[in-house]
Amino acid sequence: MKPADYHMHTPLCCHAVGEPVEYAAHALSLGLTEIGLSDHSPMRQVDWDDWRMRSDQLDEYVEKVRKAQATYPNLQIKLALEVDYVPGHEDWIKELAARHPWDYFIGSVHYVSGKWDFDNPKKLSEWKKHDPFEVWTMYFDRLTMAAESKLFEIIGHADLCKKFCYYPKEDCTPLFRRFLEAAARHDVAIEINTAGLRKDCKEMYPSPQFLALAWEHRVPLTFGSDAHAPNEVGLNFEEAIALAKKTGYTHWRRCTQRQHESLPLD
Ligand SMILES: [Zn+2]
Ligand SMILES: [Zn+2]
Repeated sequence: MKPADYHMHTPLCCHAVGEPVEYAAHALSLGLTEIGLSDHSPMRQVDWDDWRMRSDQLDEYVEKVRKAQATYPNLQIKLALEVDYVPGHEDWIKELAARHPWDYFIGSVHYVSGKWDFDNPKKLSEWKKHDPFEVWTMYFDRLTMAAESKLFEIIGHADLCKKFCYYPKEDCTPLFRRFLEAAARHDVAIEINTAGLRKDCKEMYPSPQFLALAWEHRVPLTFGSDAHAPNEVGLNFEEAIALAKKTGYTHWRRCTQRQHESLPLD
């Protein structure tokens, strides 16, 4: 069975185009049988940044997903969010969780300190002020906390810190291992996110080496295109599935109403 594409956005986040019905139509045209909408979650602080929906738009988001479900009953369409993990925001994330019957939360780290969203192309100058190893260490500290938080089914794009190719000269394997041990211990999945192929790093998240470590720790796997436009749904999935299989993975994780099951990978 083809794995689901569990990572895609909507215009409510202000930097994506296309309605959920259009993402769904494209998924069907590719022969996918399951997708999940996972737009950037609101923050409690309304003016936190300019690339997410406001909390008073959450109902509208859910309605858009429900409309896609009603339009395409032959496609399983999951209701989800990509939630920013920021230490101290745990209560807010629990409040969001209680508002709707979500299928899963993807926990992502885009902020390594204060208000620095290190993957934002507008904040590239900030990278030049930091040693890459310091940033990668802060990133994986937070990612490990996210895996331990019990707030998420999936951790998003687990080595996003490579996006702009600021690679540390130090060996980062211990950082990867500490995170993956936490993910395995708490039964949290990671995703193969194909959007990295479309960024400067020109490589899926996570790297093949990282994925091999993930398999060694038996961390469960999902797949995501991180589509910000309907025609990005399922992009490079053949490559992603081939990489997963070559690494040793035989199953992907389906999430329904915040429960999960394991399904074979073809
Ligand atoms: Zn986005
Ligand atoms: Zn993200």
